[in-house]
Amino acid sequence: MTALHILLALLLAAAAGAAWWLRALRQADAARHARELAELRAQRDTELAGQAERTASLFDRMVEGIIVVGADGRIRLANRSAGALFNFAPPAAGRTVIEATRHHEVAALAARLEREPEVLSHELRLDGVTETRFLQINALALRAPGGAADGAVLVFHDLTRLRQLEAVRQEFVANVSHELRTPLSLIKSAAETLIDGGKDDPAVTARFLELIDKHANRLTLLIDDLLLLARLDSGRIELELRAVPLRSAAQEAIDDAAIIAQARRVTLENHVEEPAAAHADPARLRQVLANLIDNAIKYGREGGTVRVGGRALEGARVELTVRDDGPGIPAEARARIFERFYRVDKARSREQGGTGLGLAIVKNVVQVHGGDVRVESAPERGTEFFITLPAAKA
Ligand code: ADP
Repeated sequence: MTALHILLALLLAAAAGAAWWLRALRQADAARHARELAELRAQRDTELAGQAERTASLFDRMVEGIIVVGADGRIRLANRSAGALFNFAPPAAGRTVIEATRHHEVAALAARLEREPEVLSHELRLDGVTETRFLQINALALRAPGGAADGAVLVFHDLTRLRQLEAVRQEFVANVSHELRTPLSLIKSAAETLIDGGKDDPAVTARFLELIDKHANRLTLLIDDLLLLARLDSGRIELELRAVPLRSAAQEAIDDAAIIAQARRVTLENHVEEPAAAHADPARLRQVLANLIDNAIKYGREGGTVRVGGRALEGARVELTVRDDGPGIPAEARARIFERFYRVDKARSREQGGTGLGLAIVKNVVQVHGGDVRVESAPERGTEFFITLPAAKA
């Protein structure tokens, strides 16, 4: 074998080696490619599954009730809110609308979508055993890509809370109008009596002017209370918080009430323990105490005793109490006395010049301070109001 042969053999071997290497490299490349593709696909699948899960959970947690109906009139999917509104277990797939909702109007609405593209703001009243609910339904017919009918989607919006608030607002406006009209018509008839000749008699003049003055004062009180409540409701009240020693706050309120207490021969006692102090707005606290002491005098026993108590509680709180020995508040009324214009005895409250807003103000003022108020009462044994407030910072 010549050197040339050897060289040729070596070249051939090198070429074969290179080809083998190239093949091996290509194979490795393809395998890496396949691996990368598989990883990408797995990643994409996980992302899609996550997205589907998020969409499903969003659908299920939506406040609005949603029912998706197929072209066959059977439910494809319903969320939790829809189930809660109509008392069925979602997703209720495969059931008809009437089977799931047991409501003909809803089923009729779904059927209407076979003829109409959408039904908006349809209102529905659900009379339950314990309560009535008001729903607004928006419904939309679905179309497949070719344009064929593909079922419908029904969206239920619960309006019950809104309706309840509206009813409270209407009742409040009616109450305010009534409360304003009563003193106004008394003022007007007193003025008319004076104009019609009453003023010629000095005794009649004095009596009617006094009446006008009394009812004008009542109107002022009512308007002041209404404005204060409006400010408390809207959060437009600025509290000037500082340390308020409770014993002296109680004494000031007691001194302010001395004249009306005397008129009913009521003894006012200050039993507040020193050095209890609240973190409160002194003017507002004085108003709370004034309202409670005023009520205790007005509705308590004539010739009785009103006792103001106070002490430090655990957990950086303080307590103020106002107790009378009057006839008490009936159990069924106790839950309602903090409502605006609620009175146990309407005639009695009006005769005493009450606006019917005193305790609503007490509750609201105490709550904006971060405190709370409650009442205990026993027939013929008296009534005691308890207020807790944050304690003054040490
Ligand atoms: P009012 O202006 O009528 O006094 P309030 O909101 O202060 O309004 O009180 C609501 C109702 O609660 C009163 O009309 C009265 O019937 C009842 N009430 C309040 N405090 C007492 C009390 N200490 N004893 C008995 N009844 C009370």
